[in-house]
Amino acid sequence: MSEMPVQWLLDTHCHLDAYDDPLAELDRAHHAGVHVVAVTEDPGRYRILRTRLGRRPGVEVALGYHPMRAADLGPADLLRFLRLLPQANWVGEIGLDFSRHAIASKTAQLRAFEAILAEPRLRTIPVTVHSRGAERDTITRLAQARIPAILHWYTGPLGPIDDALAAGMYFSINPAMLASRKAATLLPRLPLDRILLETDGPYTRLRSRPTTPADIAATIGSLAAKWQVSEQYAHTTIRENQQRLLGGVKSGCPDHDNQFHGPNPSG
Ligand SMILES: [Zn+2]
Repeated sequence: MSEMPVQWLLDTHCHLDAYDDPLAELDRAHHAGVHVVAVTEDPGRYRILRTRLGRRPGVEVALGYHPMRAADLGPADLLRFLRLLPQANWVGEIGLDFSRHAIASKTAQLRAFEAILAEPRLRTIPVTVHSRGAERDTITRLAQARIPAILHWYTGPLGPIDDALAAGMYFSINPAMLASRKAATLLPRLPLDRILLETDGPYTRLRSRPTTPADIAATIGSLAAKWQVSEQYAHTTIRENQQRLLGGVKSGCPDHDNQFHGPNPSG
C-alpha cells in the first residue's frame, strides 16, 4: 500500500478514474502536497483502477458500490464487493440516494447498503458515504452499525447532524460546498475536529473547470476564511483530523491497526 504520511492533506473523495489523465492529476496533487482517496463506483472499477495505479505513492483506491448504480449492479457484484473487502483499505463510494435521480432503485440500494454495513471490516477502515435525499436513513443505519463514516458532500437537513456527530462521524467539505449558500448554515453546526476535505472531482467545478485534487491546498484558504482562523490553523486542524481518522478514530475497535502504515495484504 502507498504510504500516506499525515503531514499531507488528504482529498478523501475523488473520482480519479473519471479524469482524462488520472496519473497526471496524481502528479499535480503530489506537487501540491495532496494525497488522494480514489473512490470507485463498483467492484469491477476498483480492480481496474488498482491495477492501473499499481503501488504508486500518495493514492489509495477505495472499494465502492455507488447507490446510483444499484439498478444495474446485482447480487454477483455485491458478492464480488464482499470478497474484495478484506484487501481494501478504504471503502467508498457507498450509501443511499433517494433523490428523484435514484429513488426507483431504493429497495436494491437498501439491500446492498445493509449487506455492506453488516461487515465488521467497515468499523476498522475509513468509509466515505453518499447520502443525497436519504440523510436520515443513511445516518441511522451507519450509527446502528457503529461505523464512524465520513459523510461526503452533505446537503441534507440540519436535524440528523447531531446524531451523526454523536456516532463519531466526520463531514468532508469540498470547494463547491464552501462556495454555496448552504455552507453558511451547515459549517457552524460542524465542530472543527470533525471536518475533512474532499474535491468530489471531477464532478465539482472551481471557477469554470473541473476541480482537481491539487485544489485541496487552496480549499484550506476558503475554509479558514469561513472559520475566521488563520490558514495555518486550518491546515493544522485538518491534519490533526486526518491523523485521528487514520490512526485513532477506530480506537473503539481493539483489532484496528494503522491501515496507512501497514503492509498491503494484497500487494
Ligand atoms: Zn462521489
